[in-house]
Amino acid sequence: MKLQVFQTALRAIYPPQCILCRTGLDRDNALCGPCWRAMPFIDGPICDCCGTPILTAGFAAANDICQTCQSHPRPWGRGRAALLYQGSAWRLVLSFKHGDRPDIATGAAQWMARAERDLVGPDTVLVPILLHWRRRLARRYNQADILAHETASLIGAKVASDVLVHPRPTVPLEIASAAERYDRLRDAFALTGRAAQKLAGRSVILVDDVMTSGATLAAAAQTLQSAQPQKIDCLVLARVPQNDYIGGEEKD
Ligand SMILES: [Zn+2]
Ligand SMILES: [Zn+2]
Repeated sequence: MKLQVFQTALRAIYPPQCILCRTGLDRDNALCGPCWRAMPFIDGPICDCCGTPILTAGFAAANDICQTCQSHPRPWGRGRAALLYQGSAWRLVLSFKHGDRPDIATGAAQWMARAERDLVGPDTVLVPILLHWRRRLARRYNQADILAHETASLIGAKVASDVLVHPRPTVPLEIASAAERYDRLRDAFALTGRAAQKLAGRSVILVDDVMTSGATLAAAAQTLQSAQPQKIDCLVLARVPQNDYIGGEEKD
């Protein structure tokens, strides 16, 4: 009862709002109707490897792989994304990353949990791709870490935030081509001493906020393979549309 009184008082001070446009709502961590309808959720046929929507006729069956993933095989198994990184999704991710709005992760995790529902098993461990500590100081929080914890709490999985580290900051990738991204991210990650104990034989899902070319996820997945997980899959909040890599922002 005391908790209910507290929650009622809290709602009087902080009434629920749409997580994107701040319109008043009757529940927390949700979108209003117009923002929901404008949000580019990924629904329908996708590439099983990178989660991008597959629009080409004839590519509508399950377990299909897009042409990019066919020509550049990924060092992970399957990949899922909740949103296409454009329009409202772009605005939402920007608020989350640069607008000091960690609360957005609570709503976004519901969409991510739905996107990855066919990847999750009883031994699943989520591994967030963390920012280098210098960038984390600038942003105050680690967005992939928050997304991983919020999503894990919904699906009953564990999170291992202490297995994968960035030994050094890398050059920002905003204007790099896909080939340059891959080159700059070589050796960008390292495992900690806890990695083998936490990941060996487990189903690992790498978690990040945005997938652009996939270079960051590839570098992280290649590093994780030394810990001998049973499999590695990927989950992101938003996937940059194919052929739209320049101008997107990938992890530093
Ligand atoms: Zn709204
Ligand atoms: Zn693909």
